[in-house]
Amino acid sequence: MKIVLGIKWVPNTQAVRFDPKTGTLIREGVPSIVNPHDLDATEFALQLKDKFGGRITAVSMAPPAAIMGLQHVIGMGVDDGILASDRAFAGADTLATSYVLAKVIEKIGGVDLVVFGQETIDSSTAHIGAQVASWLKLPYVYYVEKLVNYDEKKKEIAFLRKLEDREEVYRIKLPAVISVAMHSQKPRPVRMSYKIMAKLENPIQIWTNKEMGLDPRCIGLKGSPTIVGGITWTPEVPRKKEVFQGDPKEAVKWLIDKLKEEGVIPF
Ligand SMILES: Cc1cc2nc3c(=O)[nH]c(=O)nc-3n(C[C@H](O)[C@H](O)[C@H](O)COP(=O)(O)OP(=O)(O)OC[C@H]3O[C@@H](n4cnc5c(N)ncnc54)[C@H](O)[C@@H]3O)c2cc1C
Repeated sequence: MKIVLGIKWVPNTQAVRFDPKTGTLIREGVPSIVNPHDLDATEFALQLKDKFGGRITAVSMAPPAAIMGLQHVIGMGVDDGILASDRAFAGADTLATSYVLAKVIEKIGGVDLVVFGQETIDSSTAHIGAQVASWLKLPYVYYVEKLVNYDEKKKEIAFLRKLEDREEVYRIKLPAVISVAMHSQKPRPVRMSYKIMAKLENPIQIWTNKEMGLDPRCIGLKGSPTIVGGITWTPEVPRKKEVFQGDPKEAVKWLIDKLKEEGVIPF
């Protein structure tokens, strides 16, 4: 099965601070990571490859530093990576981002399945999967948790997705696009040997718009019809910072009493 995996290199939002005056993110000095929900998608894609063979190419549209994100998933077992990176892509909203990603997938060619995470931790629109499917005119299933079955000859695949009150099974023809539900997998660890191989053999390609030849009206700021009207900053909720010191057995009773006091658990 030929799989493309979409990953995003994001600022670690647990380390991000807000400027309370401007309401904007303070990104300086904030380390970046692979969007954690994309590790669920990576694990899901790797399990498909373990079962049915094939190849996984990770793709990302981002500035050059995102190469580290691609190296991370290669360290988990992904075969190679493509970074779509060009100043002309900067300032992209989700429409322009998904357009570039769709064009990358088209250029790779012969892809059976495109796998995305459910959403990112820095923008969380959950638009990209649906928009890429729409550009490519492919079926799209989101919140996928499990593979139900795959008929390689007929190129038919079925996935289970869980909603709050029910489970649904979707049977679709490949090629298709899916988003994997967050927290649904246990991502495998990175193997240093894979990561070193990725660095030495450099399987990551960088595609600029010179290679891609995309219409400048459809990319970057020009291709982005969305305008951020404003950002509202939710003030911090002060913590009580109460710590129980003493016998661990007593601690459970103390904690339960506290939770009852606060109305978190009923009497
Ligand atoms: C008006 C506007 C201007 C913007 N300007 C900028 C800017 O200047 N610089 C900037 O960095 N961002 C900018 N953004 C944010 C940018 O559009 C989003 O980061 C991007 O489109 C992805 O959206 P998301 O993070 O909500 O992804 P979601 O839709 O929540 O992501 C779903 C899944 O899609 C995949 N995915 C998401 N993004 C990528 C990617 N880039 N490559 C590969 N796979 C991906 C992942 O698997 C992810 O789990 C702007 C947004 C708007 C609305």
